[in-house]
Amino acid sequence: MLNPLGTIAEPCRVARLLIGGAWVDGETTETLRDRYSGDVFGQIGVATAAQVDTAVAGACAAFVTDQIPPYKRFEILAKAAAIIASREDVLVKCMTAEAGFTRTDGEGEVRRCAQTLELCAEEAKRIVGRMIPMEATPNLRNRMAFTLRVPKGVVCAITPYNSPLNTVAHKIGPALAAGNAVVLKPSEYTPLTAVHLCEALLEAGLPAGLLSLVHGPGAQVGRQLLADSRIAFYTFTGSTRVGREIQQAAGLRGTQLELGSIASTIVCADADVAKAMPKLVGACFRKAGQVCTSVQRIFVDSRIARAFTEQFVAQTKLLEVGDPALPGTAVGPMISVAQAQRAEAWLREAVDKGARLLAGGSRNGAVLQPTVLTDVTADMRVVCEEIFAPVVSIIAFDELDTAIDQANATPYGLAVGLFTSNLTTAFDAAQRLQFGGIHINETSSSRVDVMPFGGVKDSGFGREGPEHAIREMTEERLITVAY
Ligand code: NAD
Repeated sequence: MLNPLGTIAEPCRVARLLIGGAWVDGETTETLRDRYSGDVFGQIGVATAAQVDTAVAGACAAFVTDQIPPYKRFEILAKAAAIIASREDVLVKCMTAEAGFTRTDGEGEVRRCAQTLELCAEEAKRIVGRMIPMEATPNLRNRMAFTLRVPKGVVCAITPYNSPLNTVAHKIGPALAAGNAVVLKPSEYTPLTAVHLCEALLEAGLPAGLLSLVHGPGAQVGRQLLADSRIAFYTFTGSTRVGREIQQAAGLRGTQLELGSIASTIVCADADVAKAMPKLVGACFRKAGQVCTSVQRIFVDSRIARAFTEQFVAQTKLLEVGDPALPGTAVGPMISVAQAQRAEAWLREAVDKGARLLAGGSRNGAVLQPTVLTDVTADMRVVCEEIFAPVVSIIAFDELDTAIDQANATPYGLAVGLFTSNLTTAFDAAQRLQFGGIHINETSSSRVDVMPFGGVKDSGFGREGPEHAIREMTEERLITVAY
């Protein structure tokens, strides 16, 4: 519904498909329920195999016929950024319903999505290759060479529920900025936010054929997209399990995989705890702990562990928990009751094995109270598997080396935080921590959208961040000239 100023007044309720430049219904629909109340608030149209096929065919055709020059891409992406920013209210409402986000979580997504699209717009104007110093070769004269960066073709974006706007923008923004056509399959939990983003791009003037949107379960619609050899590149954010499947299916085609993580943050005895504390509380519990870089383990120097833990627990207990639509709520529901039950089972298991519960631990439907554990051991699932819930373990250390070893000792390597006031400690640790991003005096969850963002080990490979993603979504083409 458009209001007289051209801004959408109400969140979209039916997630339709965008195929061949037109919005169409899925052949079947499924109900979308509010994450907190369980009330029905919308429907998702599920794409048939034929519709997915048509979407990919349309993207292939549009890649040839609907090419737009870089300056136009800049204009479209910049305008889409402004449209998104102007629709904050409606987008927040949409994410509160379909993702269970609090107002603060939703506003963060909108602000960052606008920023991401703006960065993509700017990058669209500076996609350049490089000169090759041909004549630096012995006895080679009268040769020149340079490279161009050309789009790969059809890029398929498959995205998770926990960042339904900004992560989607981090996929489709750079792909479009680079001149590709895109087929997007968002999480089946959060299809409506994706519809709003696509709508904003179309309103900003994107030739509709360049962007297709198909909804449905990963095992059905996602797998069909993986099997389609017309797709040149997959950009994926989600679990390591699905990431492995994508890599296997992609074969010789390119991929960018942003996968799971067990994120840690280390607090040294010389840290500015007053500054660290609110950052840590936020980074453990925002989005109900469902962030790939959420702090799951805090390693704290044993000399300050007691005072730190007392303060941390006290601040955690102050958090308002429950209905994400209420203005004061800091922690809302998880994505499903089943996920909250799983996390609850892990923390019960930890307590049975000797962990001490310092805060939280109880569950009401999909809402798990922000939970703080201590006296945990390395074999407990709350410590050695990705919990993706508002649960953190505080682990004291005597030697920083031990904390670094323990932070490194997971299959993952996405991001880590380290609080210290000693530069030598900081730079030495930065050399030894095996992660894609190391944040000194910030938590593992610190992210600014311009950064190269991505992991090592089972956290995947490739880098998000518009400039970096564009490099991944383009080919370097060599041109040589003899004269
Ligand atoms: P998920 O892997 O279950 O789903 C992600 C997407 O993949 C969804 O769109 C889903 O429908 C699709 N999918 C599922 N099975 C598929 C298949 N067989 N083939 C193709 N597509 C398939 O992840 P999720 O539960 O939505 O998100 C949580 C996970 O995402 C966590 O592990 C988290 O760490 C990770 N994550 C990582 C980052 C990062 O930047 N590294 C960011 C956010 C989330």
